[in-house]
Amino acid sequence: ALLPATARVYVAGHRGLVGSAVARHLAAEGHEVITRTRAELDLREPGPTARMLRDTRPDVLVLAAAKVGGIMANSTYPVEFLEDNLRIQLSVLAGAHAADVDRLLFLGSSCIYPKHADQPIREDALLTGALEPTNEPYALAKIAGIGQVRSYRRQYGRRWISAMPTNLYGPGDNFDPETSHVLPGLLRRFHEAVAAGSEEVLLWGSGTPRREFLHSDDLARACVALLRAYDGPDPVNVGCGEDVTIAELAALVAEVTGFTGRVVWDTSRPDGTPRKLLDVGRLRKLGFEPSVALADGVRDTYRWWLGHKDS
Ligand code: GDP
Repeated sequence: ALLPATARVYVAGHRGLVGSAVARHLAAEGHEVITRTRAELDLREPGPTARMLRDTRPDVLVLAAAKVGGIMANSTYPVEFLEDNLRIQLSVLAGAHAADVDRLLFLGSSCIYPKHADQPIREDALLTGALEPTNEPYALAKIAGIGQVRSYRRQYGRRWISAMPTNLYGPGDNFDPETSHVLPGLLRRFHEAVAAGSEEVLLWGSGTPRREFLHSDDLARACVALLRAYDGPDPVNVGCGEDVTIAELAALVAEVTGFTGRVVWDTSRPDGTPRKLLDVGRLRKLGFEPSVALADGVRDTYRWWLGHKDS
């Protein structure tokens, strides 16, 4: 079987948005989940990473550890977004091969695709055009990771695969106003405006870019489905198949947080890519359908943050 009924799975990045959801779902299905905190293991370091993998010998590895952030974080720290991700991927994948880990899922991002790819974006759009400049360093690192997975498949017959999720959100996300992705950023801005009795919220860009949002629980279910059923060299897109404009997202977040004032757009901030809706035909063929509607997911995420923002 591609995924044994009770596998020992090392989830790298188990404290992040993606890794925590994947670890939760694997544990709920009866798998043994192996984790290490950042303090215990710096995944950018090849020696300690290889030793940990050799000592624990997981059956399966999910690489959900990455340096991630929103559009401003990516534009401000391009070196870290490129180098931390390359280093994590190099040490984890080489270490996994040395430890004879035969099943591995590498997680990338929809920003690997060309800025002007046809929409919805199919997997074969990879490497057909120039990237969106605001997150090019991160995208280059993730593209290298796909190449690494493919190379281990070709040269060593490893049953390793790659998944490319769309924009994700959910409990455990980063809500820092400067470095977060748009959804947690908006929840916080609107919440604080309501708390301060302010009539105006200032958001970035023009509000016209379109983005697709998937709840981290849906991504986790898709990851398990892929581990169970998919074994090929091409990455598989993971999305819900629908997108909204940032202005529409802002209207939803305003409703969820109870904000009734007006939204002002700060066009000195970048818009990023105009649209990145994934074609999810390949994932659908494997029988996967997302289950969390955006309005419900945003409400749940807001509730989670209200319970955690002070800790
Ligand atoms: P992207 O999908 O890689 O572009 O990353 P983001 O999630 O950071 O941004 C998505 C879109 O939301 C961009 O067009 C931003 O300009 C817009 N946006 C509007 N307000 C905010 C905000 O407060 N934070 C972030 N991160 N993005 C915002």
